[in-house]
Amino acid sequence: MNFETIIVGAGSMGMAAGYFLASQGKKVLLIDAFDPPHTEGSHHGETRIIRHAYGEGENYVPMALRAQELWLALEEKSNKKLFLKTGVLNAGDPDSQFIKNVKKSAQNYSLPVEVMTAAEMNEKWPGFRFPNDYVGCFEKNSGVLMVEECVRAYRELAEKAGAVLRTNTIVKSIEAAGSSVTVKTDSETFTGEKMIVTAGKGTGPILSTLGLELPLQPLRKTFSWFDSDENIYREGKFPAFAVNYPDSDELYYGFPSIDEAGVKIGRHDEGQPVQPWAKLAGYGAFPEDEGDVTGFADQFMSQKLPVKYGKTCVYTNTPDSDFIIDKHPEFKNIFFACGFSGHGFKFASAVGEILSQLAVDGKSKLDISDFSMERFK
Ligand SMILES: Cc1cc2nc3c(=O)[nH]c(=O)nc-3n(C[C@H](O)[C@H](O)[C@H](O)COP(=O)(O)OP(=O)(O)OC[C@H]3O[C@@H](n4cnc5c(N)ncnc54)[C@H](O)[C@@H]3O)c2cc1C
Repeated sequence: MNFETIIVGAGSMGMAAGYFLASQGKKVLLIDAFDPPHTEGSHHGETRIIRHAYGEGENYVPMALRAQELWLALEEKSNKKLFLKTGVLNAGDPDSQFIKNVKKSAQNYSLPVEVMTAAEMNEKWPGFRFPNDYVGCFEKNSGVLMVEECVRAYRELAEKAGAVLRTNTIVKSIEAAGSSVTVKTDSETFTGEKMIVTAGKGTGPILSTLGLELPLQPLRKTFSWFDSDENIYREGKFPAFAVNYPDSDELYYGFPSIDEAGVKIGRHDEGQPVQPWAKLAGYGAFPEDEGDVTGFADQFMSQKLPVKYGKTCVYTNTPDSDFIIDKHPEFKNIFFACGFSGHGFKFASAVGEILSQLAVDGKSKLDISDFSMERFK
């Protein structure tokens, strides 16, 4: 079967790209190893934070703002509640790079960020207990995305616009010759003019069949839900947050209790290196699964929060934690987006749009030069 574009990996980024291409009338095939949204990749666990004044660097801000616009447009088109404007509190040592970057991003892009002392944060949100030497940068316009619902919304609209989706189908290898690409699965072969590889943790092995070795490391990660007092911690009373420990990369993030699920907390740094197709050890297999987040909650929450349960998920990290969005150096009709290093979901709408522009025009409207794989040469 022949397609204009074949997308390998229909998760966060791939499903969005499929939507943008199909909605322009392009003949698109999406192939996924599972049935998205699913729990075998990086897009499950109910919620993801979207921040605009970006602590990882101001070069991400234009993409974050475009992503926010596109999420709101998706809400309208799909008639689903996808974004909760909870506000996001970034807190840490005033001298940490993370907090400095948040302030710089806010200043250079005129984003509304309220700088707060520890006492002000503890008063506004009695669920926190920040030590005196912490500062906060509160972004009232950012918040939380309902992750599976976002992927489902793009899937429904992409299929409605004519995209073909092959689920439970593993891509084993890709071949490229001249202006065509061929994808082999267990039982079928598909041919297309262009290809987009957005296979999350599976991207490394797929691209290596085309002679491209990218520095991608899948990591096992966990997150935990806590029993929490709804009067203090529910959405509307309590924000989403990211807290950076002083003099270290130790970074925790969390969510208010949404639909009475309880506060959710995860640790952003650390994690266990895994092979792309390894079965992950379940939640609780490592003492730090629960130990790290309870240690954080004991220190920064004013109330004792007991863990209810947790889940595992995967980050696919690059050495510098920045994304890779690029094209194959030899086969200019093959594009890829990977290495989202645990902070990619918020951008999925914008990355999907960027990939669709690359596939159609060979270039994107937003500057993606910082995400080139050339930096690893
Ligand atoms: C615990 C946790 C918390 C996070 N918190 C945040 C947050 O608060 N904010 C934020 O912005 N980001 C967050 N992230 C990161 C974000 O979720 C990821 O960066 C993003 O989902 C990655 O998208 P992806 O498309 O690369 O991967 P995925 O969404 O996993 O999609 C990849 C798809 O490719 C498919 N696939 C893989 N190999 C093959 C193959 N060989 N053949 C066919 N299909 C294949 C998979 O089945 C999957 O569906 C978090 C991630 C985790 C794990």
